[in-house]
Amino acid sequence: MTTLTFDSVNPATGEVVGTHPRQSAPAVHDAVTRAEEAAGWWAALAPADRRRRLLDYKAVITQNLRPLAELVHRETGKPTADAVLEIVLTITHLDWAARNAEKVLGRRRVATGLIGLNLSATLEYLPLGVVGVIGPWNYPVFTPMGSISYALAAGNAVVFKPSELTPGVGVRLAELFADAVPEHPVFQTVTGLGETGAALAGDPRVKKIAFTGSTATAKRVMAACADNLTPIVAECGGKDAFIVDADADLRAAADACLWGALSNAGQTCVGVERVYVVDQVYEPFMRELKDLAATVKAGEHYGPITMPAQLDVIMRHIDDAVKNGKAVKGGPESVRAPYVDPVIVEDVPEDSAAVREETFGPTITVRRTKDAQEALELANASAYGLGGTIFSRDTRGALRLARLMRSGATAINSVISFAGVPSLPFGGVGDSGFGRIHGADGLREFARPKAISRQRFALPGMNLTSFSRGAGEVERLIRMVTILHGRRKR
Ligand code: NDP
Repeated sequence: MTTLTFDSVNPATGEVVGTHPRQSAPAVHDAVTRAEEAAGWWAALAPADRRRRLLDYKAVITQNLRPLAELVHRETGKPTADAVLEIVLTITHLDWAARNAEKVLGRRRVATGLIGLNLSATLEYLPLGVVGVIGPWNYPVFTPMGSISYALAAGNAVVFKPSELTPGVGVRLAELFADAVPEHPVFQTVTGLGETGAALAGDPRVKKIAFTGSTATAKRVMAACADNLTPIVAECGGKDAFIVDADADLRAAADACLWGALSNAGQTCVGVERVYVVDQVYEPFMRELKDLAATVKAGEHYGPITMPAQLDVIMRHIDDAVKNGKAVKGGPESVRAPYVDPVIVEDVPEDSAAVREETFGPTITVRRTKDAQEALELANASAYGLGGTIFSRDTRGALRLARLMRSGATAINSVISFAGVPSLPFGGVGDSGFGRIHGADGLREFARPKAISRQRFALPGMNLTSFSRGAGEVERLIRMVTILHGRRKR
């Protein structure tokens, strides 16, 4: 039987980077079977042994940083230096997950309260078994590894389906793991198109799916998971807002805003897409932004649009923005496939597609607001809620705004900085998805809490869970609960 294959292509040059099998449902089934066996071995290892192996994996990735970055560059078109940055952040997360798994997930005693004073109680977080990871192409190392590292550290085996645009990177990540952990296939990659991912999501032996991609596909994956009650963690992108307050360092804000919007050609789930600037500093901020934008070029500072079909979305949003707003830099002519030069448009109505839908391109809309409160209200009036940024010199005010921003994370006086802090959870609200990767929450996302209560001695005259219980015992219980809980505070 011939195996169907597909090519991964360098979006900048059209060169074929690699050819990979389109793994069918039976092939995915076999991978999950191997993963189930490996999961048993991996979960039974002492935490210190798992940690040592994961730190070895980290070392192997680090030793292969340059060739891996080169492969990312070829499959996505992004500059190699950007690929290096992505891999370095991945290494930091893997290190954190490996070192903190036992502390976060390990067995601990918990308080039992007065009514349970004859009990002892323990809580621990056990592995789920096989975790399926369905990954994107925009950060083909950092994003899926945000799930894979934490799932492995929590004691699970992983079957990873990379995007069809970056299968080579996905295959390499599993090969490097096998170099560090040769004993069992604890981490496997299956390649293919959407149906390969669908087979993974539909396998009842997969105990959780970690999905990153579009909101529409997340819904399809969730529907496939519903048949087996398979839980999912969904990271579905965003429409992140960037707020510039009156007392912001405008040069720093413009610099961060541009990098957040244009780096990786804007193909970043927490990329800057909407900018809200308070009236007082609008003109000077726009001067800084235009000055800096004049120095940034597609094909030099950032790469091509990785997914050809995305160019249509970007074009539609630019047309929409320019028709209804005022182009400050660029316009429809900025799209010269596969590259898109920076586009900045101001005064675009808030109900237009360019402001409401994820663009995933190097474009921003900018709007003047009365004050920071209005900026926050507009920022929050989005179906998405992944990240966001606030620039202000007033620490207390910025923290207040950050806490009120409807998003999973907010950076103050920097962009996207939260994604590089391994102890911070990452994920969104609304159409940006649910569940968390990274940090202690990311470890617990791939584990199931196991609660155990043990009776240490029988409470004399208080055997409440017995048919031999008498009226006196219930009376004593009522008296006790009244003393403990029956008094109002005011
Ligand atoms: P998709 O949501 O279509 O794909 C994401 C992943 O899901 C890929 O691995 C894809 O495989 C897989 N997949 C597709 N269909 C199914 C299915 N039925 N069951 C299981 N898995 C499936 O995203 P795209 O890559 O097509 O990008 C589309 C849009 O998504 C972008 O324009 C952007 O707005 C957003 N996006 C957001 C990302 C983020 O970081 N949150 C990352 C990437 C995209 P395959 O590649 O083989 O189709």
